[in-house]
Amino acid sequence: MKIAVIGAGPAGIMASLQAAQAGANVSLFESKPRIALNLGISGKGRGNITNSCSFKDFLNHFNDKRFLKYAFKSFSNTSLIAFFENMGVKLEEERGGRVFVASGRAIDAVNALYRKLNSEKIELFLATPVDSLIIEKGVCKGLISKGKKILADKVVLATGGISYPQTGSTGDGLKFATLAGHTLQKPYPSLVALKPAELLSEELENLNLINISASLWLNGRKDSEEQGEMLFRDGMLDGPVILKLSRKAVKPLFEGIKTEIVIDFKPALSYEKLDNRILRDIEKKKTSNLYDLARGLVPAALVNFLLQKAGLSPKLNLSDLKADNRKKLRNILKEMRFEITDCGGWDRAIVTSGGISLREVTPETMESKLIENLYFAGEILDIDADTGGYNLQAAFSTGYVAGKSASTLL
Ligand SMILES: Cc1cc2nc3c(=O)[nH]c(=O)nc-3n(C[C@H](O)[C@H](O)[C@H](O)COP(=O)(O)OP(=O)(O)OC[C@H]3O[C@@H](n4cnc5c(N)ncnc54)[C@H](O)[C@@H]3O)c2cc1C
Repeated sequence: MKIAVIGAGPAGIMASLQAAQAGANVSLFESKPRIALNLGISGKGRGNITNSCSFKDFLNHFNDKRFLKYAFKSFSNTSLIAFFENMGVKLEEERGGRVFVASGRAIDAVNALYRKLNSEKIELFLATPVDSLIIEKGVCKGLISKGKKILADKVVLATGGISYPQTGSTGDGLKFATLAGHTLQKPYPSLVALKPAELLSEELENLNLINISASLWLNGRKDSEEQGEMLFRDGMLDGPVILKLSRKAVKPLFEGIKTEIVIDFKPALSYEKLDNRILRDIEKKKTSNLYDLARGLVPAALVNFLLQKAGLSPKLNLSDLKADNRKKLRNILKEMRFEITDCGGWDRAIVTSGGISLREVTPETMESKLIENLYFAGEILDIDADTGGYNLQAAFSTGYVAGKSASTLL
């Protein structure tokens, strides 16, 4: 009995391991010369493999809270931690329940998976892109790679999304599945930087701000808010809070909805408290100018941009500062508004939102409801989550179910 798995990312690797352990003869096809390139660079190279939060909380971080229930029950965050530790890869929990490879090297996790694939005698075909599936009368019979027909009893499609195409995830599987009749929920870049309408000054480049609050506004209404860190990079708004908001921003943006990000640089202070703070600072720095005042409130690299956005001159003497200008300063500190016109694109998006419609896949088996003997796993599906280890867990858990069910139904 033969199972062919397409894509040696976390989902395809886990599916292969489960199928092989159940006694199937597994062939794993990977277009790149190495396995799991995405995993190797995940978590800024440190591998944020999963999150330690509770089952319910875990589901709340996903676009769909029902589809993954079975997969996470079958193979949870604790199962994944045990899986890696059994292979000798120690994991370590950090702030926000994020679980990282303890060595700080995601590549250690990749190497352990590689060894495991070898020990389970899985036939690994590297640098072997799959060109298409063989489907006859609604049944998947195998695949075609490099012009060669490879027959299999079951096929697991685990080719990932479209983001970071340099790692091999170029959307091939989405094409194979749609050709087979599956519905594609339109893919969008997600966990991605957002590009404002205005040019950001060079001074802002690489400025990292901590303890700010950013909110997403859609057609003039506040949609959501996140607190934490942000970064100005390549003329875009970037960093953890922006990436989080991007999950809800990109689709409406491309659907033509007015999309804005509003930044509060002083979330701990109410408007009134900030007013009082500014008044106190003016009292102390009476003889100086607005630049010096603002310098005491935000990092130096932000001052000119901030004052320019508020329409205030940095040279204005504090002794001449009128109440309306003081209010302008307070308001720009509490709500700096950026209209968003674009996002960072596929080569910067950490994940792909959208993918193969979940309505056409059985959550308990990951089998296609349309094509017999075809299974899905990982980011190819219409699942996406926040940063924090959730996306990798989803890939491993769906891979686990796909591999197990494909082999137990043999
Ligand atoms: C920079 C970056 C950092 C990230 N950090 C984190 C993190 O810290 N925590 C987290 O949870 N998630 C993180 N993610 C997301 C996470 O890596 C993905 O969600 C996860 O890798 C998806 O796994 P997958 O197996 O479904 O797909 P992928 O990892 O994309 O693997 C798919 C594989 O299929 C192969 N393939 C594609 N087409 C073909 C074909 N035609 N034939 C053969 N092979 C093919 C590809 O080469 C690839 O190896 C990060 C992603 C990126 C890009």
